[in-house]
Amino acid sequence: MNKTFYITTPIYYPSDKLHIGHSYTTVAADALARYKRFCGYDVMFLTGTDEHGQKIQRKAEAKGVTPQQYVDQIVSGIKELWQLLDISYDRFIRTTDAAHEAAIQAIFQKLYDKGDIYKSEYEGWYCTPCESFWTETQLNDGQCPDCGRPVEKTREESYFFRLSKYQQQLIDLFEQNPDFIQPPSRANEMLNNFLRPGLDDLCVSRTTFNWGVPVPFDPKHVVYVWIDALSNYITALGYPDEEGVFARYWPADIHLVGKEIVRFHTIIWPAMLMALDLPLPKQVFGHGWLLFRDGKMSKSRGNVIDPVVLCERYGVDAIRYFLLREVPFGSDGNFSNEALIGRINADLANDLGNLVSRTSAMITRYFPDGLPDQRQAADPDQELIDLSRQLPDKVDAGMGQLQFSQALSEIWRVIGRSNKYIDETTPWILARSPEMAPRLASVLFNLAEAIRIVSILLQPFMTATPARIWAALGLADASLTDWASARTFGLYRATAPLRSEPVFPRLDLDKELASLDALLAADASVAKKPEPETVPVPAEIAFDDFQKVALRIGRVLSCEKVKGSDKLLCSQIDMGGQIRQILSGIAESYKPEEMPGRLVVVVTNLKPRKIRGLMSEGMLLCATRADGSCRLLTVDEAVEPGSEIS
Ligand SMILES: [Zn+2]
Repeated sequence: MNKTFYITTPIYYPSDKLHIGHSYTTVAADALARYKRFCGYDVMFLTGTDEHGQKIQRKAEAKGVTPQQYVDQIVSGIKELWQLLDISYDRFIRTTDAAHEAAIQAIFQKLYDKGDIYKSEYEGWYCTPCESFWTETQLNDGQCPDCGRPVEKTREESYFFRLSKYQQQLIDLFEQNPDFIQPPSRANEMLNNFLRPGLDDLCVSRTTFNWGVPVPFDPKHVVYVWIDALSNYITALGYPDEEGVFARYWPADIHLVGKEIVRFHTIIWPAMLMALDLPLPKQVFGHGWLLFRDGKMSKSRGNVIDPVVLCERYGVDAIRYFLLREVPFGSDGNFSNEALIGRINADLANDLGNLVSRTSAMITRYFPDGLPDQRQAADPDQELIDLSRQLPDKVDAGMGQLQFSQALSEIWRVIGRSNKYIDETTPWILARSPEMAPRLASVLFNLAEAIRIVSILLQPFMTATPARIWAALGLADASLTDWASARTFGLYRATAPLRSEPVFPRLDLDKELASLDALLAADASVAKKPEPETVPVPAEIAFDDFQKVALRIGRVLSCEKVKGSDKLLCSQIDMGGQIRQILSGIAESYKPEEMPGRLVVVVTNLKPRKIRGLMSEGMLLCATRADGSCRLLTVDEAVEPGSEIS
């Protein structure tokens, strides 16, 4: 029987659409799961959704739907996103699954029967967004110490879990098992901030709302969401049935979690398992955050990047590559459009894409009947061959530490060496002398072979690109692309015609940045609905009044600042044959060079007027943000300039 490998992501809270930060954890888990499968492991890759709790109940109420309807709709969006990102999970658990709910009741009952859960009264503070209990002294300026948001005073009859009983066992676990938490810095954080100062018993039931799993022997209580959520890692395997799937995969080899939930996974979760007499997971890996313009990506900051927009524009592999390459796993990393396009151009289009298409094109051109067997080695060959031979071990080393970025840089070292090898060996000069054919054959063979090895090892990270590379090199025989074959240098042979299509097209940085900003802004303005609080409602108008406003789509041709004004931009706009000049007070939100190419919404029948000596014939529609900056209204797909809006 194969060795097993059980890997989990956090189960996500479906209170909103997922952003690229969630995708980051899941793509990392997927890369590791795929890698382990290639290495021959029997992998169980679990992800899912954490669907109970006060926050969900409130959101559903605000929308006028049941909590179940609310989560169902978001969960289907999450599943679509994982499909788009090619996430190869084996099991998707929802905490609203009947089997999970029954298992939670069994767990609660077992802990109660054992005396590890008892009834008392809770008085303290609760952070609903985090679903966390806090004592007065833990609060930070009266706010949640995790997220900085306001907390609510809570006083209710509650059940408690004897967390304090497991304090010493937890300290021992941390001290005797330094690999339990990765990176190790997070272990010190837990020891110093929580374990050594002393653990309080944990409140594990709520009575003020009912969207949760009822306590089996006292159904006016629902089980605290974290008890419900953490248990998913065992209920997904069939627990409380300890045979079968559970016996096969538990304990988990690794729980991947964001650093903000390390505390729940390294204190509450192991204590629960100790209380249930179950083995502990081998490792909890708390990775960093993907940061965006000096802060954690979050809905409330308005800096949420929609992964769907990025995938549709650049392809899934480019996004997966970027996430895994740009951030050393464990640390925080930065997301920016510039960095994304930079990686696509430098690493994917230039280094990898060019190498593949040049090599494929040269083989096709110089040896249309295939590479001859007669070959001649020469000096620069050995370095490339050695590097390629060492590559599988180096990828193993990186993956063993969850250093995806390091594994990828090793792969790119071979790609870089191969490109240099082309410059050193100048195949186009060799091709001029027929007597150099054996040398030329050797050069192209070594290149094809280095690429073959690279393409095999890229499979955990990129899911479509390897097959495109195989098509480019005519690698149609599966034995030449299986994982183990990357360890042998010298197998390359084309068994199908070579196809030379570019693997990654190069992007125009400035143009891409402008359209990406527009796309993501448009996406954010659609996603961002005003909270119901204090949105003033303008007086109603009749449909006729609305019809008086003529709106059309225009395309910005050029744009410049208006002299003597900090606020005004003057744009020339193609309205479908006719060109208009329009002045807009958007200079604090847009640079003139960001404007050309944008599709904008124009009020065309506004009476023309002169502003600062310039005629303005119409108006661009904008949405204003809370800070006074604005984003232009645009359309979600290309529409011909001049198109009417109704
Ligand atoms: Zn909080």
